[in-house]
Amino acid sequence: MAQHGVEINALEAIRKVVSEINLQELKGVLTYCLPNPIAFRQRQTVMSYDFIAGGMNRIWPGKPDGSLTEQMAYAVWTNLIKDNVDYLIDFHTGRRSAPVWVFYEAFGVSPSVSKEVADKAAHMAQVFGADLLYIETEAYGEGKTLRGVAFDHGIPSIVVEIGGESHFNREQIAIAYRGLINTMTDLGMIANQIKLPKKQTIIKWIADRDKITARAPNGGIFIPTVKIGDRVSKGESLGYIYSPRTFKKTADVTSPQNGLVFQIIENPVVVAGQPVISVPEIIEDFFNH
Ligand SMILES: [Zn+2]
Repeated sequence: MAQHGVEINALEAIRKVVSEINLQELKGVLTYCLPNPIAFRQRQTVMSYDFIAGGMNRIWPGKPDGSLTEQMAYAVWTNLIKDNVDYLIDFHTGRRSAPVWVFYEAFGVSPSVSKEVADKAAHMAQVFGADLLYIETEAYGEGKTLRGVAFDHGIPSIVVEIGGESHFNREQIAIAYRGLINTMTDLGMIANQIKLPKKQTIIKWIADRDKITARAPNGGIFIPTVKIGDRVSKGESLGYIYSPRTFKKTADVTSPQNGLVFQIIENPVVVAGQPVISVPEIIEDFFNH
């Protein structure tokens, strides 16, 4: 957790799980770590001594003779994860206004991953019990994430994004806690009940961000007229921009495709061409009994 040093919500969820576990009854081993303690202490996404765009989560599995971040990642990967972990959850945070979501990779995206491993990751993603599942259907194309490297190595792996950075969101921490209990129950590590929401929705991650991104046609003040989770159609109005000088409306922002309103920019002051809302396509809603 917190390889981006400000992404701390999981800390509280893990603390609660660890404090409640009966070690006599626990089957298997629960391992957790803060892989980037310097960024964590600095309370920064990326440590100031070694700036990397995208931070630690672009350089896995690290390098023994690389930069400081690469050396730390290499130590975590070789000593803790590579040959020791059967299932992996990498906790991050998205935005304060965002819901909890679970990111995982579809079978066939990475040629080295078996169907069995991909199916296990998809099952983990569902059982975690977030309302929203975000499936990667195409190669990421950037530096390697911890989840990507672990998955390529045959470890069923998911990423969980919980709320925003640098604060504790109790409601979302409770979802993460339930997700950990669900996962450990499902793996037979503890005896408990799996609790799932009535409805879960799968949305589609694609590499071409332009297809899912509504941009500001011009600069100004952006006022969304939709909220996160709304379902919208291609061309539908998502909000508008007004001039901070005249207060007159200067442009409409419309949806690039049919989909779910996933992210809305939090700072209303925007420049021309700035992404303001993302609308990934909905693959499926499914219902739990
Ligand atoms: Zn992150």
